[in-house]
Amino acid sequence: MSPDVLAVAEHRRGELRDVSYELLTAGRQLADATGGDLHVAVIGGDTESFAEELDREGVDAIHTVSEGEEFNHDVYVQAVEALHGELDPQVVLMPNSVNGLDYAPAVANRLDLPLATDAVDFEYDDGLTVTREMYGSKVETTVEVGGDQYAVTIRGAEWPGAEGVGDADVAEFDADIDTDTGSTVTGFEEVGGGDVDISEADFIVSIGRGIEEEDNLPLIEDLVEATDATLASSRPIVDSGWLPKNRQVGQSGKVVTPDVYLAIGISGAVQHVAGMKGSDTIIAVNTDPNAPIFDIADYGIVGDLFDVVPELIEEFE
Ligand SMILES: Cc1cc2nc3c(=O)[nH]c(=O)nc-3n(C[C@H](O)[C@H](O)[C@H](O)COP(=O)(O)OP(=O)(O)OC[C@H]3O[C@@H](n4cnc5c(N)ncnc54)[C@H](O)[C@@H]3O)c2cc1C
Repeated sequence: MSPDVLAVAEHRRGELRDVSYELLTAGRQLADATGGDLHVAVIGGDTESFAEELDREGVDAIHTVSEGEEFNHDVYVQAVEALHGELDPQVVLMPNSVNGLDYAPAVANRLDLPLATDAVDFEYDDGLTVTREMYGSKVETTVEVGGDQYAVTIRGAEWPGAEGVGDADVAEFDADIDTDTGSTVTGFEEVGGGDVDISEADFIVSIGRGIEEEDNLPLIEDLVEATDATLASSRPIVDSGWLPKNRQVGQSGKVVTPDVYLAIGISGAVQHVAGMKGSDTIIAVNTDPNAPIFDIADYGIVGDLFDVVPELIEEFE
């Protein structure tokens, strides 16, 4: 076994996802603690340009596996297993994404590794301790992971993305993939039919049940336009069918990390906060001065959104 860390990058529709850069930061943190190197695997798609983008400060080696364009369960499992056989790293880090949670358990099973999912932090000191959050981020737990080699999936937006330019060794890795497998990716369809990825937005205007009815959406859309923001919401808005599922922020929606999160008529339930607490600046508009959203807001306006929003629009215009 080597003290190295192997981080598996993620891409979609020709682009690396943010979590790939976050994996580099998390991987470096862990490799510093184990005293090993940080290896990165990128599997499928335009591996050559992905490798260039992943070559950031702190990365020691990048292994490209050229097989397929998009994510495929069987390819990823075989590639990570083969790389593990070659490198024998102490830790395999994968994203706690839909894709990551698809192949990570199979990788752990094949390699007989303990799997700790949804890590928001970890410590290594002759053994791995992983921090996880429960009950909508209300409770933090630390899990001592048994054994001496581990598989871990990390939660998105918990580590900053790695920056800078690195000088990693980049090499093609022949994972000897058997493509005669059970699963085939036939296409990609965005849930909710929208083309907006709120997790990439810098300025989010987010609405909650305080807007009362669907007919009040145009008022918010005017604010979105005036501020050049991206529209998102709490779950009840999606459950009511007023916005598609891909706009939902929270535990069962998306995790967002914009520069500014403007929460309008949102109470700040733990399941909502789980998805937006990483925002740089949180501004809340709510009639109830005791609404929990004010506990995490940087700026708060206690007031009726039907008074406040028109004033904000006027101000921005
Ligand atoms: C397993 C599970 C998963 C969940 N996942 C999610 C999730 O991913 N995302 C999510 O958001 N929720 C999620 N929920 C639901 C969550 O518990 C809350 O019910 C939800 O977040 C509340 O949404 P809200 O703040 O819009 O509505 P409410 O809690 O009803 O709050 C509305 C707020 O608007 C304010 N208000 C009312 N009128 C006005 C006005 N005129 N002007 C200004 N303010 C006004 C009120 O004071 C209140 O604070 C989940 C729940 C469960 C059980």
